[in-house]
Amino acid sequence: MLKLKIPPNHPRRESLLIREKIVEGYEKGVVALQGLIAHGRGEAFDYILGEKTHEPALDAIRAAAAQLLLAKYPVISVNGNTVALVPKEIVELAEIVNAKIEVNLFYRTREREEAIANLLREYGAKEVLGVGEDASATIPELFSERRRVSPRGILIADVVFVPLEDGDRTEALKKMGKKVIAVDLNPFSRTARTADITIVDNIVRAMPLLIQEVKKLRKKSVNELKEIVNDYDNDKILRSMVKIILERLKRISESKMIIEIPKS
Ligand code: ATP
Ligand code: MG
Repeated sequence: MLKLKIPPNHPRRESLLIREKIVEGYEKGVVALQGLIAHGRGEAFDYILGEKTHEPALDAIRAAAAQLLLAKYPVISVNGNTVALVPKEIVELAEIVNAKIEVNLFYRTREREEAIANLLREYGAKEVLGVGEDASATIPELFSERRRVSPRGILIADVVFVPLEDGDRTEALKKMGKKVIAVDLNPFSRTARTADITIVDNIVRAMPLLIQEVKKLRKKSVNELKEIVNDYDNDKILRSMVKIILERLKRISESKMIIEIPKS
């Protein structure tokens, strides 16, 4: 339930509505306190990017859709922020690419795992891995609680979709030979730079686009999908995103900064 009344013409309306979802997630025990701060880092990049989906992100979404369709055993790894923002879309994506959903938390508590799994079940998820004893396998070289994974999920996955992931974790998944798809508004983060495919966009905008793209591409042949993945160059995409930031900042730096407020 939305507690805040935001006027329809408020310039930060969308951003404030998203923020409210994160706060609600915190109140429901889905989001960790640290998750609120992580969201703030994302918001800052989104502000700089003009809060819209840019062309390179669309290219990454297309490659991600193809990679997920080609996967033999795809897993969607979720944390509190992801589930607070896009629970419906996570369930739908899992369904259309036949992926497992696994809870994987930086600040793991049984209560939060259960709260996340319950929320996903409310949205129709049939199975949620990584809760309690199910997270019994460990991935090498990681020391936080995140090293615990499900032997029926991330451990045996070939493609892992990790929206809002942490750099250490992405690196560990890569070392295990997984193909990693990330969503991260920060093109400089280690996650962004370690993943195979990085969607530099707000997860709230990226998920519906990704679902749409999967529905479009699922009619294509395996060879066509392979071509999309082979032609994709994450390094180039990340550099294009940085250029977009540079150009935006340059334009702002060349325009008048002060906003004059007329006296009423
Ligand atoms: P890394 O560990 O990869 O170097 P980091 O430590 O800066 O990155 P974390 O705190 O691990 O970042 O994770 C938060 C990341 O999630 C930030 O990079 C932030 O930009 C991103 N993020 C937060 N909210 C969103 C969102 N709604 N959509 C997309 N990305 C987001
Ligand atoms: Mg980090």
